[in-house]
Amino acid sequence: MNIVVCPGTFDPVTNGHLDIIYRAAKIADKVIIGVAENSSKKLLFTLEERINFIKSEIDEKDDIMVESFDSLVVKFAGKHKAQTIVRGLRAVTDFEHEFQMAQLNKELAPNIETLFIMAKPEYGYLSSSAVKEIALYGGDVSGLVPEMVRNALLKKTKVFGG
Ligand code: ADP
Repeated sequence: MNIVVCPGTFDPVTNGHLDIIYRAAKIADKVIIGVAENSSKKLLFTLEERINFIKSEIDEKDDIMVESFDSLVVKFAGKHKAQTIVRGLRAVTDFEHEFQMAQLNKELAPNIETLFIMAKPEYGYLSSSAVKEIALYGGDVSGLVPEMVRNALLKKTKVFGG
């Protein structure tokens, strides 16, 4: 069985992430979306919120699941018997970081491959941090994120008085 993991912080999930997940699902028998519990970046949403946003869009079935993880990505992949880590690539600015991660992961787990899926042109500029910035300054993020995320961002904007 061709099992892949799609790891990320998803703070919050965007339509760009979802596009990569759906495209990964077309080439894999099973996709496990890995939501990182912690991050070196300051997170806006809790783990539970980040997972619920993804679940609001993705119907969890046997072939697509959402799981949290708090370990090396290769450990998470191994635990789920995944042979492949799928990452999205937007611009060359993503490349250096992703290349380094892929090489490190190859060193740590030679049997696991990293597969890159290129962002759709319309999502090439889209990132969780851009979405947060737009929302916190009162911009409209519809079309960029699921409805549930948009509402949660609106709520945060009110709290912060944006
Ligand atoms: P991380 O903190 O691990 O980079 P993210 O949640 O920011 O996690 O991103 C998870 C993955 O999704 C990364 O491979 C990232 O490059 C990719 N990604 C993020 N936004 C987009 C987008 N708009 N289109 C395609 N891939 C994306």
